[in-house]
Amino acid sequence: MSLITLKKYLEYPNKKEEKDFCRFIDYLMNNITTITAISPSFISEKFNISKREAQKFLQHAVKTNFFEVEQQLICPKCAYTIDEITDPNNLPKETIVCEDCGLEFTPKKGDIFVIYKLSEEAKEVINKFFRNKGRQN
Ligand SMILES: [Zn+2]
Repeated sequence: MSLITLKKYLEYPNKKEEKDFCRFIDYLMNNITTITAISPSFISEKFNISKREAQKFLQHAVKTNFFEVEQQLICPKCAYTIDEITDPNNLPKETIVCEDCGLEFTPKKGDIFVIYKLSEEAKEVINKFFRNKGRQN
């Protein structure tokens, strides 16, 4: 889904999946201040699709600049966000201490939480669309 396709979808929602997508965007816009991150499970629930399909959707959304991806190192004990990870294959080798609960641990891939966020570009496209429709959000 590119931003251009998104614009088209928002303007001409005729097919079922396009309507679903518009509903999803509508939902995002109405909750944009409370939604800080989007997970595959979230997409899977909203669209009523499998987690695998949701994963594919998100990967595509990142590739087309609709979403941005962020990988965070989360404390395995208290879920405190310790740091943002740029390369999950190059994790710190030394022991880390969680600032929040004091747990000492060596980061593993399982401690990385991947989150998806609407990109600034996508927000602009969506905002403009709703402004043109004379809607408040
Ligand atoms: Zn902790």
